[in-house]
Amino acid sequence: MNKPLHAIAWEITRRCPMACQHCRGASRNEDYAGELTTEEAFQVLDSLVAARRDGARLPMLIFTGGEPMYREDLETIVRHAHRCGFPSVLAPCGRFATAARLQQLKAAGIRAISLSIDGADAATHDAFRGVPGAFQMASAAMQAAREAGMPFQVNHTLTRAGLPHLRAMRDFALAQGATRLDVFFLVPVGRGAALSAQCLTDAETETALNELLILDDEGLLPIHVTCEPRILQVAAQRSHPPKSPCNGCMAGAGFLFLSHRGDLQPCGFYPLHLGNIRDFNCNLPATLAASKRYAALNGGPCCLARAAGLRACQSSVPEA
Ligand code: SF4
Ligand code: SF4
Repeated sequence: MNKPLHAIAWEITRRCPMACQHCRGASRNEDYAGELTTEEAFQVLDSLVAARRDGARLPMLIFTGGEPMYREDLETIVRHAHRCGFPSVLAPCGRFATAARLQQLKAAGIRAISLSIDGADAATHDAFRGVPGAFQMASAAMQAAREAGMPFQVNHTLTRAGLPHLRAMRDFALAQGATRLDVFFLVPVGRGAALSAQCLTDAETETALNELLILDDEGLLPIHVTCEPRILQVAAQRSHPPKSPCNGCMAGAGFLFLSHRGDLQPCGFYPLHLGNIRDFNCNLPATLAASKRYAALNGGPCCLARAAGLRACQSSVPEA
């Protein structure tokens, strides 16, 4: 039995002006043919509303990319989602996040945004993001969010190089006025496949998780761990529960990823094809209902995308 959907990360476009070394979608700054249209986006939203059981909450929509602000109809889709009752957040790269644009998006229904900082200093961040000035852009976007009254969290992709700088990263996010620091453990897929040497060893992972739990204990800023399910084991070895509990893995736990062309996956890093909404008239619940792979999904103690190897995972589950 699948858990009720509580969040959908929606890659509303794959186009992006950044060239991040770890990008799961290997996004480029070019048009991608066949992206979902405004009408199809409305159909997706309406299908979720129609399938809602009495009193159930609609899932949180995380509009992501690519750079979601490249979509000219972004406000139109966000407004429709808001009218339907979906809570919505946005994950921009920062380049187009002016105070005026953020105010428009807030008026349309966006509750909060996330902004990524992936290096302890500007040079490291810019190199990781593949664009000179990327750190300055992200910093300007944080200033714009403060001006617009738009809450924001800082996302940080953790690599071996970043391990000594976790406390500095927390302090940076805190000083910027972020509501949370979300640490994403590097998953080597897409362009990130070339970064496998930057993935933490088991011992380094344990060190990082313990340090993140200590930082969270300090209570200055909530810390969230994404894409490292071993947070559960490490947290269980301590004498007290975490202030900000998380399970480290979204896949199979009420979370879905919807790609720019309508493919459904357990998470953005794990391209297990659960079906394409276009085959079901953009009815997302109907697509899931027909997917044997979705029915077989269960959140587990390890990362499905890293562990079994993608090919092995895909061949072990019947076709959708
Ligand atoms: S990781 Fe995000 S910001 Fe970076 S290239 Fe990919 S989509 Fe763009
Ligand atoms: S399957 Fe792996 S990559 Fe996907 S959400 Fe879980 S931990 Fe992250």
